[in-house]
Amino acid sequence: MRYISTRGRAAELGFDDVLLAGLATDGGLYVPKTWPQFSSAEWAALAGLDYPSLAAAILAPFVKGSVVEAKIGELTRAAYGSFTHKAVAPLVQLETNLWTMELFHGPTIAFKDYALQLVGLLFDHVLKARGSRITVVGATSGDTGSAAIEACKDRAAVDIFIMHPAGRVSEVQRRQMTTVTSTNVHNIAVAGTFDDCQSLVKEMFADTRFRDELNLSAVNSINWARIMAQVVYYAWAALRLGAPHKEVAFAVPTGNFGNVFAGYVARKMGLPIAKFAVGSNRNDILTRYFETGAMTALGVVPTLSPSMDIQISSNFERLLFDAYGNDADAVTGLMDRFKQSGAYTVDAKVHAGILKTFTSTRVDDDGTKRVISETYKATGYVLDPHSAIGVAAAKAAKLAPETPVVALATAHPAKFPDAVEAAMGQRPALPPHLAGLLTRPERFTSLPNDLDQIKAYVRGHSRST
Ligand SMILES: *Cc1c(COP(=O)(O)O)cnc(C)c1O
Repeated sequence: MRYISTRGRAAELGFDDVLLAGLATDGGLYVPKTWPQFSSAEWAALAGLDYPSLAAAILAPFVKGSVVEAKIGELTRAAYGSFTHKAVAPLVQLETNLWTMELFHGPTIAFKDYALQLVGLLFDHVLKARGSRITVVGATSGDTGSAAIEACKDRAAVDIFIMHPAGRVSEVQRRQMTTVTSTNVHNIAVAGTFDDCQSLVKEMFADTRFRDELNLSAVNSINWARIMAQVVYYAWAALRLGAPHKEVAFAVPTGNFGNVFAGYVARKMGLPIAKFAVGSNRNDILTRYFETGAMTALGVVPTLSPSMDIQISSNFERLLFDAYGNDADAVTGLMDRFKQSGAYTVDAKVHAGILKTFTSTRVDDDGTKRVISETYKATGYVLDPHSAIGVAAAKAAKLAPETPVVALATAHPAKFPDAVEAAMGQRPALPPHLAGLLTRPERFTSLPNDLDQIKAYVRGHSRST
């Protein structure tokens, strides 16, 4: 498989290079040159597979020609073998035609594990084949840091440095990072805010000499390999509910548009998906886009669903590229406009096409708490605040009553105990594999918000130099 950039000015690459590159050199995002297609008979033949085998079958065309091609079944088995539910991504029925899909049975109990556990193994395999190493640097305000650390810990060819704002992440989130004792994991508590951490990362990447010296790499959601791995659970759910013979729909709580874009890829590959119901919190740039056709950035406000407190949905660029018929110049024009003025408007015909596949709903904190409490009263099921927004989006979408809807549960309620307790009066317990989290010793280094000191620390502890 060959990959092209949404901006049309970067080299065409194979899977291994796309994995390591993350962002394309022209500022665009990589997408496959053509969408692999499975016929109805081929989908039907996949319906009986377990999750790792289904993953291997779906990912095979995307990694064709790569050094991981022959190993993909072994890698998906290693990635998902340690998940705490045998089904990996189990469906739970809430109403006659409404299910949740639990995407929180990985090590850090949020859906990012489903992509990052595999990406960590892919990194290691490709780097070993090339005899090279990388230094992963990242900033986190919550879920991504711990999922990336769990994915990269003990990988021989990877060193990982994650910066979090000292005193500004929740105790569970901090401990999920700082109690990992692997020698290739480096937690840095920066005396500053999340934005300070993020600009430190950007400045490290902008320093070409430093970047090349350390083989800097990123694991944020613009990496194609993360999207690819997320396609699998859409197929998994659809096949359980009657696809390819029956249409299904998905409801997805959305921030960066990465998760729901993976569903769109599953649809491109031939799965009969009627609709995607997108849910946003008060940071509703996407819902405003679906309502108006204009993408306009506003300031970020904190909410009960912090992993969706985002103002720029980076992965939307991949949808635009497809909706504009792979017109890289059109996409580049829109992205340049956004950079200059914080806004762009999608061509009316293209926008109308997008609305055939997507609907959107915004839910504020009161609405989020209401969905948690009403769902608990009606079914006994406990939703986390992000998953509650997915359920709200499913209900607001008003789909045909015969279409089964799957609302993606993106985090375990115990990851956000304060919000859940505020909504329903009870504090959810951590799952057994995290039971010792609050007493295990922590290991992190505190550093000032100072680029030179942080660079010196990374250089001194990375094995790439
Ligand atoms: C990251 C995250 C999201 C948002 O996912 P996107 O791919 O950015 O749309 C939603 N819920 C949880 C719990 C997350 O960690």
